[in-house]
Amino acid sequence: MAFDYDLFVIGGGSGGVRAARVAAQGGARVALAEESRYGGTCVIRGCVPKKLMVFASEFPDTIAEARAYGWEVTQGAFDWGAFRAKLHAELDRLEGVYRGILKGNGVETFDMRARLVDPHRVELADGTRLSARHILIATGGRPVRPDLPGAAHGLVSDDLFLMERLPESILIIGGGYIACEFACILNGLGVQVTQFYRGAQVLRGFDDEARGLVSEEMTGAGIDLRLETNITAMEKVAGGYRVRATDGQEAVYEQVLFATGRAPNTRDLGLEAAGVAVGRKGEIVVDAYSQTNVPSVYAIGDVTDRVNLTPVAIREGMAFVETVFNGNPTPVDHELIPTAIFTRPEMGTVGLSEEEARARGPVEVYATTFKPMREGFAGRATRVLMKLVVCATTRRVLGCHIVAPGAGEMIQLAGIAVRMGATKEDFDRTVAVHPTMAEEIVTMKTPVRHA
Ligand code: NDP
Repeated sequence: MAFDYDLFVIGGGSGGVRAARVAAQGGARVALAEESRYGGTCVIRGCVPKKLMVFASEFPDTIAEARAYGWEVTQGAFDWGAFRAKLHAELDRLEGVYRGILKGNGVETFDMRARLVDPHRVELADGTRLSARHILIATGGRPVRPDLPGAAHGLVSDDLFLMERLPESILIIGGGYIACEFACILNGLGVQVTQFYRGAQVLRGFDDEARGLVSEEMTGAGIDLRLETNITAMEKVAGGYRVRATDGQEAVYEQVLFATGRAPNTRDLGLEAAGVAVGRKGEIVVDAYSQTNVPSVYAIGDVTDRVNLTPVAIREGMAFVETVFNGNPTPVDHELIPTAIFTRPEMGTVGLSEEEARARGPVEVYATTFKPMREGFAGRATRVLMKLVVCATTRRVLGCHIVAPGAGEMIQLAGIAVRMGATKEDFDRTVAVHPTMAEEIVTMKTPVRHA
Protein backbone atom coordinates (compact mmCIF):
# COMPACT_ATOMS: atom_id res chain seq x y z
CA MET A 1 0.00 0.00 0.00
CA ALA A 2 1.29 3.47 -0.87
CA PHE A 3 1.12 5.92 2.03
CA ASP A 4 1.00 9.72 1.84
CA TYR A 5 3.78 9.88 4.44
CA ASP A 6 6.29 7.62 6.15
CA LEU A 7 5.47 9.32 9.45
CA PHE A 8 2.59 11.42 10.71
CA VAL A 9 3.20 13.09 14.06
CA ILE A 10 0.28 14.39 16.11
CA GLY A 11 1.52 17.10 18.47
CA GLY A 12 4.18 19.78 18.00
CA GLY A 13 5.75 19.86 21.45
CA SER A 14 9.32 19.00 22.37
CA GLY A 15 8.97 15.26 21.71
CA GLY A 16 6.91 15.44 18.51
CA VAL A 17 9.02 18.14 16.88
CA ARG A 18 12.26 16.32 17.69
CA ALA A 19 11.02 13.01 16.27
CA ALA A 20 9.64 14.70 13.14
CA ARG A 21 12.84 16.61 12.55
CA VAL A 22 15.20 13.69 13.03
CA ALA A 23 13.08 11.33 10.91
CA ALA A 24 12.90 13.92 8.11
CA GLN A 25 16.66 14.51 8.27
CA GLY A 26 17.08 10.80 7.69
CA GLY A 27 15.05 11.04 4.47
CA ALA A 28 11.57 10.09 5.69
CA ARG A 29 8.50 11.91 4.33
CA VAL A 30 7.07 13.46 7.47
CA ALA A 31 3.98 15.50 8.38
CA LEU A 32 3.01 16.99 11.73
CA ALA A 33 -0.28 18.41 13.01
CA GLU A 34 -0.50 20.84 15.94
CA GLU A 35 -3.79 22.41 17.02
CA SER A 36 -2.29 25.00 19.34
CA ARG A 37 1.16 26.59 19.39
CA TYR A 38 4.38 24.92 18.28
CA GLY A 39 6.72 24.17 21.14
CA GLY A 40 4.01 22.62 23.32
CA THR A 41 3.81 22.74 27.08
CA CYS A 42 7.53 23.18 27.70
CA VAL A 43 8.02 26.19 25.46
CA ILE A 44 4.63 27.88 25.55
CA ARG A 45 3.12 27.19 28.98
CA GLY A 46 5.67 25.30 31.03
CA CYS A 47 9.41 25.10 31.58
CA VAL A 48 10.50 28.12 29.55
CA PRO A 49 8.08 30.84 30.72
CA LYS A 50 8.24 29.33 34.23
CA LYS A 51 12.03 29.63 34.33
CA LEU A 52 11.89 33.23 33.10
CA MET A 53 9.43 33.92 35.94
CA VAL A 54 11.83 32.22 38.35
CA PHE A 55 14.55 34.62 37.25
CA ALA A 56 12.19 37.61 37.65
CA SER A 57 11.20 36.44 41.12
CA GLU A 58 14.77 36.22 42.38
CA PHE A 59 15.55 39.93 42.11
CA PRO A 60 14.12 41.09 45.46
CA ASP A 61 16.55 38.74 47.25
CA THR A 62 19.37 39.83 44.98
CA ILE A 63 18.62 43.50 45.66
CA ALA A 64 18.49 42.89 49.42
CA GLU A 65 21.82 41.07 49.17
CA ALA A 66 23.30 43.85 47.06
CA ARG A 67 22.48 46.28 49.88
CA ALA A 68 24.08 43.96 52.40
CA TYR A 69 27.18 43.93 50.20
CA GLY A 70 27.44 47.70 50.29
CA TRP A 71 25.57 48.73 47.16
CA GLU A 72 23.24 51.67 47.42
CA VAL A 73 20.18 50.30 45.68
CA THR A 74 16.50 50.57 46.36
CA GLN A 75 13.86 48.16 45.24
CA GLY A 76 11.13 49.61 43.08
CA ALA A 77 7.88 47.95 42.07
CA PHE A 78 7.66 44.95 39.75
CA ASP A 79 5.96 45.80 36.46
CA TRP A 80 4.15 42.60 35.53
CA GLY A 81 2.79 44.16 32.31
CA ALA A 82 6.26 45.03 31.04
CA PHE A 83 7.62 41.61 31.98
CA ARG A 84 4.65 39.78 30.47
CA ALA A 85 5.02 41.62 27.14
CA LYS A 86 8.67 40.64 26.98
CA LEU A 87 7.90 37.08 28.03
CA HIS A 88 5.37 36.64 25.26
CA ALA A 89 7.67 38.21 22.67
CA GLU A 90 10.24 35.58 23.67
CA LEU A 91 7.69 32.76 23.41
CA ASP A 92 6.68 34.03 19.95
CA ARG A 93 10.32 33.97 18.94
CA LEU A 94 10.77 30.43 20.21
CA GLU A 95 7.61 29.25 18.50
CA GLY A 96 9.06 30.69 15.30
CA VAL A 97 12.24 28.70 15.89
CA TYR A 98 10.23 25.49 16.26
CA ARG A 99 8.27 26.19 13.08
CA GLY A 100 11.54 27.00 11.33
CA ILE A 101 13.08 23.68 12.40
CA LEU A 102 10.19 21.76 10.86
CA LYS A 103 10.09 23.82 7.68
CA GLY A 104 13.84 23.77 7.25
CA ASN A 105 13.85 19.99 7.39
CA GLY A 106 10.98 19.49 4.97
CA VAL A 107 8.33 18.46 7.49
CA GLU A 108 4.86 19.37 6.20
CA THR A 109 2.82 21.02 8.96
CA PHE A 110 -0.92 21.31 9.53
CA ASP A 111 -2.04 23.92 12.05
CA MET A 112 -5.07 22.01 13.21
CA ARG A 113 -6.23 19.09 15.25
CA ALA A 114 -5.72 15.56 13.95
CA ARG A 115 -7.27 12.32 15.13
CA LEU A 116 -6.78 8.69 14.21
CA VAL A 117 -9.21 7.03 11.86
CA ASP A 118 -7.53 3.63 11.78
CA PRO A 119 -4.00 2.26 12.31
CA HIS A 120 -2.62 4.06 9.24
CA ARG A 121 -4.85 7.09 8.73
CA VAL A 122 -5.50 10.41 10.43
CA GLU A 123 -8.27 12.91 9.84
CA LEU A 124 -7.53 16.63 10.13
CA ALA A 125 -10.05 19.09 11.59
CA ASP A 126 -10.92 20.25 8.04
CA GLY A 127 -11.93 16.70 7.10
CA THR A 128 -8.80 15.84 5.07
CA ARG A 129 -7.72 12.24 5.51
CA LEU A 130 -4.05 11.34 5.21
CA SER A 131 -2.25 8.03 5.47
CA ALA A 132 1.10 7.17 6.97
CA ARG A 133 3.20 4.05 7.43
CA HIS A 134 3.76 5.09 11.05
CA ILE A 135 1.81 7.42 13.32
CA LEU A 136 3.42 9.01 16.36
CA ILE A 137 1.21 10.47 19.07
CA ALA A 138 2.92 13.20 21.08
CA THR A 139 -0.04 15.20 22.35
CA GLY A 140 1.25 15.77 25.87
CA GLY A 141 -0.90 16.48 28.89
CA ARG A 142 -3.02 19.18 30.48
CA PRO A 143 -3.58 20.42 34.02
CA VAL A 144 -6.60 19.05 35.86
CA ARG A 145 -8.83 20.63 38.51
CA PRO A 146 -10.27 18.53 41.30
CA ASP A 147 -13.98 17.86 41.33
CA LEU A 148 -15.32 20.27 43.97
CA PRO A 149 -17.86 23.08 44.13
CA GLY A 150 -16.63 26.21 42.37
CA ALA A 151 -13.39 24.64 41.07
CA ALA A 152 -14.06 25.95 37.55
CA HIS A 153 -13.27 29.46 38.88
CA GLY A 154 -9.73 28.42 39.81
CA LEU A 155 -6.68 29.01 37.66
CA VAL A 156 -4.39 26.26 36.35
CA SER A 157 -0.72 26.70 35.49
CA ASP A 158 -1.51 27.52 31.82
CA ASP A 159 -3.39 30.64 32.98
CA LEU A 160 -0.56 32.10 35.04
CA PHE A 161 1.41 33.27 32.04
CA LEU A 162 -1.62 35.10 30.65
CA MET A 163 -2.79 36.98 33.75
CA GLU A 164 -3.66 40.64 33.10
CA ARG A 165 -2.31 41.63 36.49
CA LEU A 166 -0.67 39.90 39.42
CA PRO A 167 -3.13 39.19 42.23
CA GLU A 168 -2.46 40.55 45.70
CA SER A 169 -3.12 37.14 47.21
CA ILE A 170 -3.33 33.61 45.89
CA LEU A 171 -4.15 30.22 47.32
CA ILE A 172 -2.24 27.38 45.68
CA ILE A 173 -3.62 23.86 45.99
CA GLY A 174 -1.15 20.97 45.70
CA GLY A 175 2.34 20.03 46.81
CA GLY A 176 4.03 18.82 43.62
CA TYR A 177 6.54 20.45 41.30
CA ILE A 178 4.13 23.03 39.92
CA ALA A 179 2.54 24.04 43.23
CA CYS A 180 5.90 24.53 44.97
CA GLU A 181 7.57 26.29 42.05
CA PHE A 182 4.72 28.77 41.64
CA ALA A 183 4.43 29.32 45.37
CA CYS A 184 8.07 30.48 45.33
CA ILE A 185 7.77 32.47 42.10
CA LEU A 186 4.66 34.36 43.15
CA ASN A 187 6.05 34.93 46.65
CA GLY A 188 9.18 36.41 45.06
CA LEU A 189 7.07 38.66 42.86
CA GLY A 190 5.34 40.09 45.93
CA VAL A 191 2.08 38.11 45.92
CA GLN A 192 0.83 36.94 49.31
CA VAL A 193 0.90 33.15 48.90
CA THR A 194 -1.01 30.54 50.87
CA GLN A 195 -0.49 26.89 49.90
CA PHE A 196 -2.64 23.94 50.94
CA TYR A 197 -1.19 20.46 50.64
CA ARG A 198 -3.27 17.47 51.66
CA GLY A 199 -0.30 15.29 52.72
CA ALA A 200 2.22 15.49 55.56
CA GLN A 201 5.01 17.06 53.48
CA VAL A 202 5.27 18.64 50.01
CA LEU A 203 7.09 17.00 47.07
CA ARG A 204 5.96 13.49 47.87
CA GLY A 205 8.34 10.83 46.53
CA PHE A 206 11.48 12.94 46.87
CA ASP A 207 14.07 12.51 49.64
CA ASP A 208 12.44 13.38 52.99
CA GLU A 209 15.33 15.46 54.29
CA ALA A 210 15.57 17.42 51.03
CA ARG A 211 11.87 18.17 50.76
CA GLY A 212 11.77 19.01 54.45
CA LEU A 213 14.39 21.71 53.91
CA VAL A 214 12.61 23.07 50.82
CA SER A 215 9.42 23.28 52.85
CA GLU A 216 11.20 25.09 55.73
CA GLU A 217 12.80 27.56 53.35
CA MET A 218 9.46 28.21 51.66
CA THR A 219 7.84 28.92 55.00
CA GLY A 220 10.82 31.06 56.03
CA ALA A 221 10.36 33.14 52.87
CA GLY A 222 6.83 34.00 53.97
CA ILE A 223 4.73 31.39 52.16
CA ASP A 224 1.84 30.34 54.40
CA LEU A 225 2.21 26.60 53.77
CA ARG A 226 -0.51 24.55 55.44
CA LEU A 227 0.15 20.84 55.43
CA GLU A 228 -2.56 18.22 55.83
CA THR A 229 -5.04 20.78 54.61
CA ASN A 230 -7.20 20.72 51.50
CA ILE A 231 -9.88 22.82 49.91
CA THR A 232 -13.48 21.64 50.17
CA ALA A 233 -15.32 24.41 48.28
CA MET A 234 -14.88 27.84 46.75
CA GLU A 235 -17.30 30.55 45.70
CA LYS A 236 -16.97 33.92 43.98
CA VAL A 237 -17.27 36.90 46.31
CA ALA A 238 -16.29 40.57 46.07
CA GLY A 239 -12.50 40.77 45.72
CA GLY A 240 -11.90 37.11 44.96
CA TYR A 241 -12.99 33.69 46.15
CA ARG A 242 -14.13 32.51 49.51
CA VAL A 243 -12.48 29.16 50.19
CA ARG A 244 -13.44 26.59 52.77
CA ALA A 245 -10.67 24.31 54.03
CA THR A 246 -10.76 20.83 55.54
CA ASP A 247 -9.83 22.34 58.93
CA GLY A 248 -13.09 24.32 58.80
CA GLN A 249 -11.43 27.70 58.24
CA GLU A 250 -12.68 30.10 55.59
CA ALA A 251 -10.77 32.91 53.91
CA VAL A 252 -10.93 35.06 50.79
CA TYR A 253 -8.13 34.95 48.22
CA GLU A 254 -7.98 37.05 45.09
CA GLN A 255 -7.07 33.99 43.02
CA VAL A 256 -6.93 30.23 43.52
CA LEU A 257 -4.49 28.06 41.57
CA PHE A 258 -5.04 24.34 41.18
CA ALA A 259 -1.68 22.60 40.78
CA THR A 260 -3.24 19.23 41.39
CA GLY A 261 -1.62 17.19 38.65
CA ARG A 262 -1.87 16.69 34.90
CA ALA A 263 -3.72 14.24 32.69
CA PRO A 264 -2.68 12.79 29.31
CA ASN A 265 -4.26 14.42 26.25
CA THR A 266 -6.02 11.41 24.79
CA ARG A 267 -9.60 12.66 24.63
CA ASP A 268 -11.19 12.50 21.19
CA LEU A 269 -8.00 11.33 19.51
CA GLY A 270 -9.68 8.43 17.74
CA LEU A 271 -7.74 5.91 19.80
CA GLU A 272 -10.70 3.63 20.12
CA ALA A 273 -11.34 3.67 16.36
CA ALA A 274 -7.74 2.66 15.75
CA GLY A 275 -7.79 0.09 18.56
CA VAL A 276 -5.05 1.78 20.64
CA ALA A 277 -5.12 0.70 24.30
CA VAL A 278 -5.13 3.28 27.08
CA GLY A 279 -4.55 2.89 30.82
CA ARG A 280 -6.52 3.95 33.88
CA LYS A 281 -5.59 7.65 33.68
CA GLY A 282 -6.23 7.72 29.93
CA GLU A 283 -2.52 7.39 29.14
CA ILE A 284 -1.46 5.54 26.01
CA VAL A 285 0.08 2.22 26.95
CA VAL A 286 3.43 1.63 25.23
CA ASP A 287 6.34 -0.80 25.44
CA ALA A 288 10.01 0.08 25.99
CA TYR A 289 10.22 1.20 22.33
CA SER A 290 7.18 3.52 22.70
CA GLN A 291 5.11 1.19 20.50
CA THR A 292 1.42 0.80 21.30
CA ASN A 293 -0.57 -2.41 20.93
CA VAL A 294 -1.25 -1.29 17.33
CA PRO A 295 2.10 -1.90 15.58
CA SER A 296 1.98 1.18 13.30
CA VAL A 297 1.13 3.55 16.16
CA TYR A 298 3.72 4.84 18.63
CA ALA A 299 3.41 7.37 21.46
CA ILE A 300 5.98 9.45 23.36
CA GLY A 301 6.08 12.07 26.10
CA ASP A 302 3.47 13.03 28.68
CA VAL A 303 0.64 11.34 26.78
CA THR A 304 2.21 8.03 27.86
CA ASP A 305 2.57 9.20 31.50
CA ARG A 306 5.94 7.56 32.06
CA VAL A 307 8.37 10.21 33.33
CA ASN A 308 6.75 13.53 32.45
CA LEU A 309 9.76 15.69 31.70
CA THR A 310 10.77 17.46 28.47
CA PRO A 311 14.20 15.84 28.08
CA VAL A 312 12.60 12.43 28.56
CA ALA A 313 10.06 13.08 25.78
CA ILE A 314 12.93 14.17 23.53
CA ARG A 315 14.85 10.99 24.31
CA GLU A 316 11.77 8.90 23.61
CA GLY A 317 11.38 10.70 20.28
CA MET A 318 15.00 10.06 19.30
CA ALA A 319 14.77 6.41 20.35
CA PHE A 320 11.56 6.04 18.31
CA VAL A 321 13.31 7.30 15.17
CA GLU A 322 16.32 5.09 15.81
CA THR A 323 14.08 2.07 16.27
CA VAL A 324 11.64 2.64 13.43
CA PHE A 325 13.65 4.45 10.76
CA ASN A 326 17.24 3.40 11.42
CA GLY A 327 16.64 -0.31 12.04
CA ASN A 328 18.28 -0.07 15.45
CA PRO A 329 15.80 -1.02 18.19
CA THR A 330 16.51 1.40 21.05
CA PRO A 331 14.61 1.25 24.32
CA VAL A 332 14.53 4.33 26.54
CA ASP A 333 16.16 3.93 29.91
CA HIS A 334 14.02 5.71 32.50
CA GLU A 335 16.41 5.06 35.40
CA LEU A 336 18.63 7.66 37.08
CA ILE A 337 17.07 10.72 35.49
CA PRO A 338 18.39 13.89 37.12
CA THR A 339 15.74 16.51 37.75
CA ALA A 340 15.38 19.89 39.38
CA ILE A 341 12.55 21.65 41.12
CA PHE A 342 12.88 25.39 40.72
CA THR A 343 11.80 26.40 44.18
CA ARG A 344 13.81 29.00 46.15
CA PRO A 345 16.25 27.43 46.93
CA GLU A 346 16.20 24.90 44.11
CA MET A 347 16.25 21.18 44.66
CA GLY A 348 18.28 18.95 42.37
CA THR A 349 18.04 15.22 42.64
CA VAL A 350 19.20 12.05 40.93
CA GLY A 351 18.74 8.42 41.92
CA LEU A 352 17.13 7.00 45.01
CA SER A 353 15.88 8.93 48.02
CA GLU A 354 17.25 7.74 51.36
CA GLU A 355 13.88 6.12 52.07
CA GLU A 356 13.83 4.20 48.76
CA ALA A 357 17.45 3.11 49.13
CA ARG A 358 16.93 1.89 52.70
CA ALA A 359 14.05 -0.25 51.57
CA ARG A 360 16.43 -2.05 49.18
CA GLY A 361 19.35 -2.72 51.52
CA PRO A 362 21.86 -1.22 53.96
CA VAL A 363 23.02 2.31 53.17
CA GLU A 364 25.36 4.96 54.48
CA VAL A 365 24.06 8.51 54.43
CA TYR A 366 26.40 11.47 54.04
CA ALA A 367 24.71 14.82 54.50
CA THR A 368 25.54 18.35 55.48
CA THR A 369 23.46 21.46 55.88
CA PHE A 370 25.07 24.85 56.15
CA LYS A 371 24.63 28.56 55.49
CA PRO A 372 26.17 29.36 52.13
CA MET A 373 28.87 32.04 52.10
CA ARG A 374 27.06 34.51 49.85
CA GLU A 375 23.78 34.49 51.76
CA GLY A 376 25.51 34.15 55.14
CA PHE A 377 27.54 37.32 54.54
CA ALA A 378 24.34 39.12 53.62
CA GLY A 379 22.81 38.05 56.92
CA ARG A 380 20.18 35.80 55.41
CA ALA A 381 19.10 32.69 57.28
CA THR A 382 19.01 30.44 54.18
CA ARG A 383 20.43 26.95 54.60
CA VAL A 384 21.48 24.46 51.94
CA LEU A 385 21.76 20.67 51.88
CA MET A 386 24.24 18.34 50.15
CA LYS A 387 23.43 14.69 50.53
CA LEU A 388 24.70 11.37 49.21
CA VAL A 389 23.03 8.03 49.76
CA VAL A 390 25.61 5.26 49.40
CA CYS A 391 25.11 1.49 49.12
CA ALA A 392 26.90 -0.06 52.12
CA THR A 393 27.96 -3.10 50.13
CA THR A 394 28.87 -1.88 46.63
CA ARG A 395 29.87 1.65 47.78
CA ARG A 396 27.97 3.03 44.81
CA VAL A 397 26.29 6.40 45.17
CA LEU A 398 22.63 5.52 44.80
CA GLY A 399 21.23 9.00 45.23
CA CYS A 400 22.42 12.58 45.29
CA HIS A 401 20.15 15.33 46.65
CA ILE A 402 21.02 19.00 46.68
CA VAL A 403 18.93 21.88 48.00
CA ALA A 404 20.76 25.09 47.20
CA PRO A 405 20.77 28.06 44.88
CA GLY A 406 21.90 26.62 41.55
CA ALA A 407 21.08 23.01 42.53
CA GLY A 408 19.59 22.44 39.06
CA GLU A 409 22.94 23.25 37.48
CA MET A 410 24.87 21.13 40.00
CA ILE A 411 22.73 18.02 39.69
CA GLN A 412 23.21 17.85 35.93
CA LEU A 413 26.92 17.26 36.54
CA ALA A 414 26.55 15.04 39.60
CA GLY A 415 24.09 13.03 37.49
CA ILE A 416 26.90 12.00 35.13
CA ALA A 417 28.92 10.52 37.99
CA VAL A 418 25.93 8.72 39.49
CA ARG A 419 24.94 7.43 36.06
CA MET A 420 28.48 6.11 35.53
CA GLY A 421 28.17 4.14 38.75
CA ALA A 422 30.57 6.28 40.79
CA THR A 423 31.34 5.04 44.29
CA LYS A 424 31.70 7.19 47.38
CA GLU A 425 35.46 6.73 47.03
CA ASP A 426 35.31 8.17 43.48
CA PHE A 427 33.64 11.25 44.94
CA ASP A 428 36.29 11.35 47.72
CA ARG A 429 39.12 11.15 45.19
CA THR A 430 37.84 14.22 43.40
CA VAL A 431 39.52 17.42 44.59
CA ALA A 432 37.21 20.13 45.90
CA VAL A 433 36.60 23.33 43.97
CA HIS A 434 37.09 26.00 46.59
CA PRO A 435 35.28 28.08 47.72
CA THR A 436 31.99 26.74 46.40
CA MET A 437 28.88 25.19 47.90
CA ALA A 438 29.27 22.14 45.67
CA GLU A 439 32.67 21.24 47.14
CA GLU A 440 30.84 19.78 50.12
CA ILE A 441 29.71 16.94 47.89
CA VAL A 442 33.32 15.64 47.77
CA THR A 443 34.39 16.53 51.31
CA MET A 444 31.88 14.65 53.46
CA LYS A 445 34.05 12.12 55.29
CA THR A 446 31.83 10.50 57.92
CA PRO A 447 28.37 9.10 57.44
CA VAL A 448 25.68 10.88 59.46
CA ARG A 449 23.91 7.55 59.76
CA HIS A 450 23.93 3.91 58.71
CA ALA A 451 20.49 2.71 57.82
P1 NDP B 1 2.30 16.37 40.58
O1 NDP B 1 1.65 15.10 40.26
O2 NDP B 1 3.76 16.46 40.79
O3 NDP B 1 1.61 17.01 41.89
C1 NDP B 1 0.23 17.08 42.02
C2 NDP B 1 -0.05 17.56 43.44
O4 NDP B 1 -1.43 17.80 43.60
C3 NDP B 1 0.34 16.54 44.48
O5 NDP B 1 0.88 17.24 45.57
C4 NDP B 1 -0.98 15.87 44.82
O6 NDP B 1 -1.03 15.37 46.11
C5 NDP B 1 -1.92 17.03 44.68
N1 NDP B 1 -3.28 16.63 44.36
C6 NDP B 1 -3.71 15.79 43.39
N2 NDP B 1 -5.04 15.69 43.39
C7 NDP B 1 -5.48 16.49 44.38
C8 NDP B 1 -6.76 16.81 44.89
N3 NDP B 1 -7.86 16.28 44.37
N4 NDP B 1 -6.83 17.66 45.92
C9 NDP B 1 -5.72 18.20 46.45
N5 NDP B 1 -4.49 17.93 46.02
C10 NDP B 1 -4.36 17.09 44.99
O7 NDP B 1 1.80 17.35 39.45
P2 NDP B 1 2.23 18.77 38.96
O8 NDP B 1 1.00 19.29 38.32
O9 NDP B 1 2.88 19.57 40.03
O10 NDP B 1 3.33 18.45 37.87
C11 NDP B 1 3.07 17.51 36.82
C12 NDP B 1 4.34 16.94 36.30
O11 NDP B 1 4.98 17.91 35.47
C13 NDP B 1 5.38 16.61 37.36
O12 NDP B 1 5.18 15.35 37.91
C14 NDP B 1 6.65 16.68 36.57
O13 NDP B 1 6.86 15.46 35.94
C15 NDP B 1 6.36 17.76 35.55
N6 NDP B 1 6.97 19.05 35.94
C16 NDP B 1 8.32 19.15 36.02
C17 NDP B 1 8.93 20.31 36.39
C18 NDP B 1 10.40 20.39 36.48
O14 NDP B 1 11.09 19.55 35.92
N7 NDP B 1 10.96 21.36 37.20
C19 NDP B 1 8.14 21.52 36.68
C20 NDP B 1 6.73 21.31 36.59
C21 NDP B 1 6.18 20.12 36.22
P3 NDP B 1 -0.44 13.93 46.53
O15 NDP B 1 1.04 14.09 46.64
O16 NDP B 1 -1.09 13.67 47.85
O17 NDP B 1 -0.87 12.98 45.47
